[in-house]
Amino acid sequence: MQRKIASLRQTFLLGAALCLLSQLFAAGTARADEPYARSRDYDLQHSRVALRFEPEQKKVLGDVTHSVFLLREGLEKISFDSVGLRIHSVRVNKIEAKFQITENKLVVMLPKGAKRGTKYEVEIKYEGTPTKGLYFILPGKDDFKRPLQIWTQGESEDTRYYLPTYDYPNDRLTTETILTVPASWLTISNGKLIGVSDASGGMKTWTWRESQPSSTYLFTVVAGEFTEVKDSWRDIPVTYYAPKDRGDRLSINYGRTPAMIDLFSKKLGVDYPWEKYSQAMVDEFVAGGMENSSATTNTAESLHNLKLIPEYEEGTDPLISHELGHQWFGDLVTTKDWGNIWLNEGFATFMETVWVEAHFGKDVADYDRWQNTREWFTTRSLYEKPIVRYDFEESEEFDGNAYTKGGWVLYMLRRQLGEDAFYAGLKHYLEANRGKNVTTSDLSKAIEEATHKNVDEFFQQWIYGAGAPKFTVCYTCDETKKQVTLTVKQTQKREARVGLFQVPVDVEVTTASGPKLYPIHVTQESEVFTFPADSVPQMVLFDKGTQILKSVQFKKEKKELLYQLKNAGEVADRADAAEALGRMKDDEQATAALGDALRNDKSTGVRRTVAAALGEMGSAAAAKQLLGGLDATQQPWVRSAIVQALENFKDDPAAVARLQSVAGEDSSFRARGAALRAIGHIKSPGAYDTLVAAVNADSPDGLLRNAALNGLGSLGDEKAVPLLREWAAPGKDPDAREAAISGLARLQKDNHELTQVIAGYLQDSHFPIRRTAVYALGLRGDASAIPALEAMLQSKSLSIEMQPTIKEQIERLKNPSAKGGAHGAAQAEPSANAKPDEDQRLSRLEQLVKEMNDRLKEIEKRLPLPKQ
Ligand SMILES: [Zn+2]
Repeated sequence: MQRKIASLRQTFLLGAALCLLSQLFAAGTARADEPYARSRDYDLQHSRVALRFEPEQKKVLGDVTHSVFLLREGLEKISFDSVGLRIHSVRVNKIEAKFQITENKLVVMLPKGAKRGTKYEVEIKYEGTPTKGLYFILPGKDDFKRPLQIWTQGESEDTRYYLPTYDYPNDRLTTETILTVPASWLTISNGKLIGVSDASGGMKTWTWRESQPSSTYLFTVVAGEFTEVKDSWRDIPVTYYAPKDRGDRLSINYGRTPAMIDLFSKKLGVDYPWEKYSQAMVDEFVAGGMENSSATTNTAESLHNLKLIPEYEEGTDPLISHELGHQWFGDLVTTKDWGNIWLNEGFATFMETVWVEAHFGKDVADYDRWQNTREWFTTRSLYEKPIVRYDFEESEEFDGNAYTKGGWVLYMLRRQLGEDAFYAGLKHYLEANRGKNVTTSDLSKAIEEATHKNVDEFFQQWIYGAGAPKFTVCYTCDETKKQVTLTVKQTQKREARVGLFQVPVDVEVTTASGPKLYPIHVTQESEVFTFPADSVPQMVLFDKGTQILKSVQFKKEKKELLYQLKNAGEVADRADAAEALGRMKDDEQATAALGDALRNDKSTGVRRTVAAALGEMGSAAAAKQLLGGLDATQQPWVRSAIVQALENFKDDPAAVARLQSVAGEDSSFRARGAALRAIGHIKSPGAYDTLVAAVNADSPDGLLRNAALNGLGSLGDEKAVPLLREWAAPGKDPDAREAAISGLARLQKDNHELTQVIAGYLQDSHFPIRRTAVYALGLRGDASAIPALEAMLQSKSLSIEMQPTIKEQIERLKNPSAKGGAHGAAQAEPSANAKPDEDQRLSRLEQLVKEMNDRLKEIEKRLPLPKQ
């Protein structure tokens, strides 16, 4: 599953959004995913699922026949997971059977004398109005006109809300899906399309069959008013679906899918394993993407407007490659339990890297990884938890350890084993466990069998142990001995699951005669290494290129940092140098060097980091460099980073004038959006008129209008309240509504009536609006919103992920001084040099999130794409 990073685009979501990284998709009721795999009474081998819908009532009518194979002797009854469904009848082998319904089970009585090893056909007729698992997106009286869509989201344990079934990953079944829908609709489900036939009443019946078994959380149904584009890889159909008004966006955003299937098939040595690959993009999706077997569902936010395509460096590719990677890791080979979810998510994250390296190049992949590292370390709650663990609540196992650290671990394993051995291990893992459920030990065993290399220590420290090394490093040079002495200390607190790390590290020493690479193995708390050096080094790199997930304190002199920024071969080392130089506030040489890098570094990632560093400097000279850099920069993703950095110069007339002019006209819409937000943020003279004009002007997908609505919130001018209320109201575009509600949250904070207006959106028919209202109330800080939030918490139909989010905002309102609220420990804190002022703290967080957005892809930490 791709976590919902799209929400990060709302600037105020910051704190909460970063928190989300560690607890996405928590379920709505106080239910934790079952951490350990269940013991089974039966093997569910095949399900024939026939569904009809009554969209107006949000109702599903089902007739499902399960083929079950008994695994125990003397069973009198078997149970299926089923929540809130009205069961009309149950027949076992075509004979009416008795059944009971509990809060979350359907218990079916078996005929007397049932024997182990026998098969039963259990047919269940039912109906339901699911509160989760199956979602109806309906064009309504006060809704933005969007095509009708029905879609499901099973992971982690929500299939049971619309289908009585065995709903845990440790069973696999084939499926036949029979969907009867209006003739004008399309449907998508797992497997091959067998046929479409006429049904009574102007309906058609679609039949899909999946002949390879997978788990029920990977079952999917999508139906509604869609446009289809057909593509292929070898002789396998590859299809893309968009809500019917956005079919023109499919090929340009998704057309690289066959190339990805090809790359992954070749790298893994195992061909794409399913009969087709479809990707259906739906509105208001509750995740970024979901890797249903052979039939991924993604957020429609991944369908960039054609005019904005050139503005995103990696486009939708991280999301596409993530979900595609799951078709092998997660679908073909599936985690046995939620405690090992990294076997799905870490691999999918790693496969994003594989695509980015191949298509966009090493520098882009390296920069993504450099950013990941910072993000993982700033989400502090992750550090003390191992990747494989069973002590989680409310789906919080889908955290930055399963995704980011999981992906990192595979990256490090590839480096330590070497590319060939690594992929030989993965091939064996996939072949030996094809169609099976696995735990982490199956992976280490397969790697050892394929490579004859023992990886136990590696798995012990990175997967079963917690944390990552924190190094302090320094060096001296003895010119007479012609020797560099490097002292390396591991400073992480060794407690609980965090131990000492044993890691191979590349040290590079550059002297007048050139660079020399020295591989060392760090194993101790404190160690000293010596290297020959024919002269005083110009640069010493510890872990060249950031090949290890780690933090490091390595004090360097300005001279060395200047050299490193200009000359280091790897992106990560230049980015590190840029950050360090940025902390030298008023230093002329540092400023000039950063300006040079802003114009000339070959990595656009490094240039974005340089822009942020110059912004942090805040000096007149830094502003000058940023303005010069803007003149020399074409790429929209760098231009917008520079513009964003300019918001730190509210007293610099040239910077302010430039923001004003970029807001009005620029080659990049993203840069203009950043300028609109910035002039609101710094309250520049004339900002109100500029922002109001932008709200009323046209731009692709309303990008400028949404940025302006956001800017009006930051501007703090109460005159904007009526305009923001107008755009927050039902009937406007949902993205504009989200921006307007977030803007309103910042205005007239003591106005309880306005608070109640926002609280009214907690009941909105659009899920994203409800979510936005929750965050907006937390940000607003008016405690009079607490009852409305508490009432929402009691609602039985809470969407996925909302419960912890609501609790957190209530906590924020109850304890305004505490950072982060109930899940505070999970939040990323602003960097040490953040200013105390709340607005500035937010601004810093906003910047962090925007950086993440740029990388996203989405979201992932990889994702649905940011709409700035
Ligand atoms: Zn995933």
